[in-house]
Amino acid sequence: MPDKARILVVEDEVKIVDALRAYLGNAGFDVYSAFDGESGLALFNETNPDLIVLDLMLPKLSGQRLCMEIRRVSRVPIVMLTARSGEDDKISGFAIGADDYVTKPFSPRELRARIESILRRSMDGISPLFSSMSWNDGDLEMDVESHTLKKKGESVQVTPNEFRILSSLVRYPQKIFTREELINSALGSDFDGFERTIDSHIKNLRSKIEDDTANPTYILTVRGVGYKFGGSGKNS
Ligand code: CA
Repeated sequence: MPDKARILVVEDEVKIVDALRAYLGNAGFDVYSAFDGESGLALFNETNPDLIVLDLMLPKLSGQRLCMEIRRVSRVPIVMLTARSGEDDKISGFAIGADDYVTKPFSPRELRARIESILRRSMDGISPLFSSMSWNDGDLEMDVESHTLKKKGESVQVTPNEFRILSSLVRYPQKIFTREELINSALGSDFDGFERTIDSHIKNLRSKIEDDTANPTYILTVRGVGYKFGGSGKNS
């Protein structure tokens, strides 16, 4: 795994931010923080965090709005913080795309346990945050639970490795993956092949999902670095 996991905390209560910075910092995370929704969004774009702890009630841009904004471009795990404990809030938190939910007051230890469990799930690159996703107005569809992929409505046969590579890429649409990161995330760090093995998987995947493999729209080559996902999507 690449170095320390980065956590972005967006919360307007200074005391909570201070406590989380200290506690999560000691637990080995890199912690970034913002005190309102707008600077939270700016910091998200700047830092490309591995997980976001997001307060629901925030000045300038609410936690709910911020969560929806982030979900338009990223599947980064989001843990919502809320002062309320009603069941309705819980449901709407998940409906707007949060992955977990912590009600105030909470102990930093509890939050840390949640964060670690979500990061484990998300970093294995396989387990879904959304079970079905589609891109470019339904041109490409993926169902993570049934491991199926469709191009223009037609089933596409992919190998398990190809499916895992694509899952890793779509999970972080903003992230540029190096070959090594893709191998770790999709094939596991005990994979003992050459980094260039990824290139041949990518070539095969492109021949299955791209209209024009010479000008791909889904799996983009970032010259000198690696690959990133280029579809614009919806999820459910
Ligand atoms: Ca608040």
